[in-house]
Amino acid sequence: MIRINENFKALSENYLFSEIARKIDAYKAINPNADVISLGIGDVTEPLCESVIKAIHSAADEMADRATFKGYAPECGYDFLKIAILENDYLARGISLSSDEIFINDGAKSSLGHFGDILSVDNIVAVSDPVYPVYIDTNVMEGRAGQNLPDGRRSNIVYLECPREKEFTAQLPNRRADVIYLCSPNNPTGSVLNREQLSAWVEYAKKHKSIILFDSAYEAYISDPAIPHSIYEIEGAKEVAAEFRSFSKTAGFTGMRCGYTIVPEALAAYGSNDAAVSLNALWRRHQSTKFNGTAYIVQRAAEAVYSKQGKQQIAGTIAYYMNNAKTILEGLKYAGFKAYGGVNAPYIWLEIPRNMNSWTFFDKLLNECQVVGTPGVGFGPSGEGYFRLTAFAKAENVEKAMERIKQWKM
Ligand code: PLP
Repeated sequence: MIRINENFKALSENYLFSEIARKIDAYKAINPNADVISLGIGDVTEPLCESVIKAIHSAADEMADRATFKGYAPECGYDFLKIAILENDYLARGISLSSDEIFINDGAKSSLGHFGDILSVDNIVAVSDPVYPVYIDTNVMEGRAGQNLPDGRRSNIVYLECPREKEFTAQLPNRRADVIYLCSPNNPTGSVLNREQLSAWVEYAKKHKSIILFDSAYEAYISDPAIPHSIYEIEGAKEVAAEFRSFSKTAGFTGMRCGYTIVPEALAAYGSNDAAVSLNALWRRHQSTKFNGTAYIVQRAAEAVYSKQGKQQIAGTIAYYMNNAKTILEGLKYAGFKAYGGVNAPYIWLEIPRNMNSWTFFDKLLNECQVVGTPGVGFGPSGEGYFRLTAFAKAENVEKAMERIKQWKM
C-alpha cells in the first residue's frame, strides 16, 4: 500500500491568501461598484524593463537558429550570468567569490525550500516571528518542525523574537539553533539588519557551528548606505552562511523565474563522524540531480539587468515602488497610525490600534475604505496586532487608498 509523507499532515492550512480573496469576493458581490484597491500583494505590478525585453527577443532569435540554439542549460547556470553577478553584486562591494560558488536557479523560493535536503533532519531550525511562511512549511515537510502547538508554533522550531523596540529585527536566541533563517530586508516587517546585528549573528553561528540561510531577496530596496546588502560584507560570513537572492523583486522577474544562491567553498557542515563536509559540493550534487537549469532566455534576460541601461531602468522601477512606500508611510502617520519599514524595503508594517485583531482590522479597512492589506497573524502568532501593506501597486491607486485612510474615522 502506498503511504504518504506523514509530515504533510502537520502542515497548517494555507488559507491566508485564499481567505483574503474570499472576503474580497464576498464584499464585491454585495458592492459590485466598489473600487477595491489592493495593497496586499507581494507581487510586482510594473512590466519588465526595456533592456530585459530586448535580451529576451534576441535570445529567442538565437533559439530559432540551428547554429545558436541551446538545449539543456548547465544545471548551476551559464558563466555569462554568474560573471555579471560576481562583478556587480559582489566585487563591486569588495566581496570576492568564485563562479563555482554561485548557483543560478528558478527563483529564491525553491532553493530556500530545497536547501534542507542537504542538512540533517535532526538540526534545530530558528526562524523569526513573524516570518515568511516558506521557511517553516518546508521544514515541516522534511520532518524537522516537531509537534503543532496550540498557539500555532511548532515544538522543535526556535522562534526568534523580533520586538518592536528593536525595530522588529531578529534577536539572538538563548538556546542553540543549527539552521538560522534570516531575511533582510524583511518580509513582512520591512526591517533591516545592520552591520552590528549581522556581525553578532555571524559570531553566534561560528560559536555554535550553525549555518545562516540569509534571504536577501529585497536587497535592491536598501536605500541606507550603512545597511549591508550581502551577509558576506561581514568578516568570516563565508564560513557560516549561504545567501539567497532573486531577480523577482529586483527586476520584476516574478513571472520569469530566476534567482541565485551563494554557497561558499568555505561553508561546511558536519558528518556523523564530526568531519567537515563542503556544502558547496553537496548543493552542486543536489542541483545537478534535482534541477535541470534555468532557461537560456531567462538567464540572458537576467544578465541584461546588469547592463548600464538595465541598471538605470530597474532603479527607476524600484524608485517608483519606494515612492509608493513613502506615500503609504506618510499617509499612515498623518492618519495617526504607528507604522514601520517602508524605507529600505517595499513592505510597511502597521500597528493596529486599540487591541483590535488583524482580521477584524482587515474587515474594517475593506468595508470602510475599500482597501486590502494582509493581516499580520498570517505571518505567525507574533504578527497578531499588526498589518502588512505593500508598495507594489500603481501609484495612483496608492494615492487614492491613502486619501481614503487619511479621511477614515476608524
Ligand atoms: N524570500 C522572500 C522573503 C520573499 O518574500 C519571496 C517572495 O515573495 C521569496 C523569497 C521568493 O522569491 P522568488 O520569486 O525568487 O521565488
